[in-house]
Parts: sequence; structure tokens; C-alpha cells
Amino acid sequence: MDDRQFRNAMGKFATGVNVIAAEVDGEVYGMTANAFMSVSLDPKLIVISIGNHAKMLERIRQSGKFSVNVLSCEQQEESMRFAGQKKFEDKFDFGRLGDTPVVENALCQLSCEVYNEHTEGDHVLFIGKVNDLVLEEGDPLVFNCGKYRKLEAIEEAVK
Ligand code: FAD
Ligand code: NAD
Repeated sequence: MDDRQFRNAMGKFATGVNVIAAEVDGEVYGMTANAFMSVSLDPKLIVISIGNHAKMLERIRQSGKFSVNVLSCEQQEESMRFAGQKKFEDKFDFGRLGDTPVVENALCQLSCEVYNEHTEGDHVLFIGKVNDLVLEEGDPLVFNCGKYRKLEAIEEAVK
């Protein structure tokens, strides 16, 4: 099986899109990530998966903290910016949730501390303990089959 075939298979699984943010020595960095899952209610844990070539890997290790920001359908540009898919000249202004940088207007901002990490193949899974969160109304940005998409409601069957 080649990599493209595996990615095509994984791309069938529609996900939301997140920006992970972390601060090191006063500098804030962002990275787009769709590998994310809720793990535990007690304690409140989530998992993200960071490729071993991503700069964000050492940034999270150094910081010990990160935020997960679930993007709205209005925030495709943020996803493209932090995936390096499009270059922007302007500076990006992060907000704060306590002492953690966050993406403003995201549908959900989770402020996390690193609870554990596991190296698996060419990625590192970071388990984050969620210390605080903020929610906003709106529709999510969706990623499916390598494309950004919007949610569409399914018409209810007429009875
Ligand atoms: P960089 O390449 O340095 O940063 C990424 C981009 O963000 C750069 O263009 C940089 O200029 C910009 N940037 C960073 N900080 C700032 C700032 N403060 N102000 C302005 N711009 C800034 N990879 C994974 O490992 N796991 C995933 O789950 C994952 N999911 C993805 C989902 C989608 C939909 C996409 C499109 C990509 C995904 N990627 C994922 C790939 C990942 O986003 C890219 O490989 C990314 O470029 C890696 O970033 P980096 O940490 O190496 O840092
Ligand atoms: P794509 O067809 O590469 O992505 C489809 C799916 O494949 C993704 O949702 C993800 O589940 C999986 N995938 C893709 N690259 C992977 C990787 N390196 N490791 C593990 N799983 C991976 O979509 P695309 O538009 O070509 O992606 C844009 C870029 O973002 C590519 O460079 C891709 O590698 C990267 N990406 C990385 C991850 C990841 O590391 N977990 C996830 C999504 C996208």
C-alpha cells in the first residue's frame, strides 16, 4: 500500500480543523492539525498527534502547554496560514486564555497542559489535560478528501 492510498483512505473520515498554539520564550507559534480526539472525562483529557518533522513538536515540549482552537467555517484562512498553504504578510494577533495563546473567534478554545506523550511511528501523541475552555456559536470548518468544506444540513424526511 502506498502513502497516497493510505492518505486517501484517512481522508474519507471527515474532521474539523484545529489550530494548535504554543508559546516559547515569549514567541507564539501556530500549527494546523486535524488529528484530535476527546480521551477522558475524569480527568478531562484530549489527544493531538504531531508529525516528527513539525516544528510544533519541540515547541510543545518546551512550553509544556498548548491550546487547541476548533476553527469555524469563517476561518479557512487561519487554517491555510498555519499549515503553510498560503503566505500572509501581516502579523497574526493571538488572544489569551489565562497564560495560553489562543485563536480568537474559534468555535472552541481549549487551554491544555501536557499530561503525557507517546511516540508512535512518525508522530508523537500529546495527551493534554484541559484546564480551561471557551465556546462560541457557529458552524465548523470541515476537512474531507483533502478539501475544506462547510456543513450542510440534511433535509428531514417528510412524514
Ligand atoms: P511552521 O511550518 O513553522 O508553521 C506553520 C505555518 O504557520 C508557517 O507558514 C508559519 O509561517 C505559520 N505561523 C506559525 N506561527 C505563526 C505566527 N505566530 N504568526 C503567523 N504565522 C505563523 N500535521 C500534523 O503533524 N498533525 C496534524 O494533525 C495535521 N493536520 C493537518 C490538517 C490539515 C487540514 C492540514 C492542511 C495540515 C495538517 N498538518 C498536520 C500539517 C501541518 O499543519 C503542517 O505540516 C505545518 O506546516 C507544520 O508546521 P510546523 O510546526 O512545522 O511549523
Ligand atoms: P491528505 O489527502 O494528505 O490528507 C488526508 C488524510 O490523511 C488526513 O486527514 C490525515 O488523516 C491523513 N494524513 C495526511 N498526511 C498524513 C501524515 N503525514 N501522517 C499521518 N496521516 C496523514 O490531504 P492534503 O490536502 O494533501 O494535506 C495537506 C498537507 O497536510 C499534507 O502535507 C499532509 O501530509 C498534511 N497533513 C498531515 C496530517 C498529519 O500529520 N496527521 C494530517 C492532515 C494533513
